[in-house]
Amino acid sequence: MRATLMYAADDVRVEDVADPWIHQPTDAVVRVVLSCVCGSDLWPYKSLVPTDTPRHMGHEFLGVVEETGSEVRGLRSGDVVVAPFTYSDNTCEYCREGLHTSCVHGGQWGVKGVDGGQGQAVRVPYADGTLVKLPVGEDSALLPDLLTLSDVLCTGYHAARTAGVEKGDSVTVIGDGAVGLSAVISARLLGAEQIILMGRHRTRTDLGRDFGATDVVADRGEEGVARVKELTGGKGTRRVLECVGLKDSVVQGFGAVRDGGTISRVGAPQFTDVPFGFRDFLRNITLTGGVAPARAYIEELMPHVLDGSIRPGRVFDRTLGLEDIAEGYRAMNDRDALKVLIRP
Ligand SMILES: [Zn+2]
Repeated sequence: MRATLMYAADDVRVEDVADPWIHQPTDAVVRVVLSCVCGSDLWPYKSLVPTDTPRHMGHEFLGVVEETGSEVRGLRSGDVVVAPFTYSDNTCEYCREGLHTSCVHGGQWGVKGVDGGQGQAVRVPYADGTLVKLPVGEDSALLPDLLTLSDVLCTGYHAARTAGVEKGDSVTVIGDGAVGLSAVISARLLGAEQIILMGRHRTRTDLGRDFGATDVVADRGEEGVARVKELTGGKGTRRVLECVGLKDSVVQGFGAVRDGGTISRVGAPQFTDVPFGFRDFLRNITLTGGVAPARAYIEELMPHVLDGSIRPGRVFDRTLGLEDIAEGYRAMNDRDALKVLIRP
């Protein structure tokens, strides 16, 4: 089959790799119908040191079950399924408390002999635990919306949930990428009244307004924080959802949050130390968030997608074939595209 491999920064290739097959009785093989490029794929795209053992790319996909191992009970050939961005057994102690990203049997796509999602097919470990069946056909117009359950929608929702967003709340969302826009959708879904979106790309923040942002702040840093204060009677918002992953955005979050408030960070951190010193100690700020256990949220969010009340698939603004995926990486890296959908 054909699959996406990264050999170095700025060097993404589509090559022949071994077809997936059932290794364990709990595996399934899924033919990929839709995949996409993630903002987090851009970190290695910017920085990967050249290697002869390329990375198998992609962790967001949905598709059709082609084959199941002898111990797979809940799925059969022909089922349309979505995969969360990590696999998990859905039965261990961590999974039972909704922390599927810490699953004792879990792991990441594209490593240790498991296929990446940006290819024609994937061997899925712990298929019963990992995959969620979608009640639609593989020709459904909702597939791009449903694909966001794989990562960005659940990641935005994780930010809103861990920040404790509730009805009537004031929320600042930092970042107008696909996760930030999904955080806007999620804050709205949980009943936030004021949603301030901080971002400077007009087409993206316009989409954010469609998704429920009540205000947009294009300024960054101290000016951006001052603007958030103006919009909140000088106090800041009770919740801040940090969806970028850079130190500056976390600093901006501390500026935008109201005393006693909560910052949740779901942007994969590209830094090691968080500035959380005496000044913020005096303000009783809570810092939370982390990697989203997407599997824990899929069933909860899916009905909102199926009934059309949210349209998270609008974050996809370009569609490419698998063979052209390198152009998708380039377009997202150059900010020509917000999020690129891949049809193998
Ligand atoms: Zn588990």
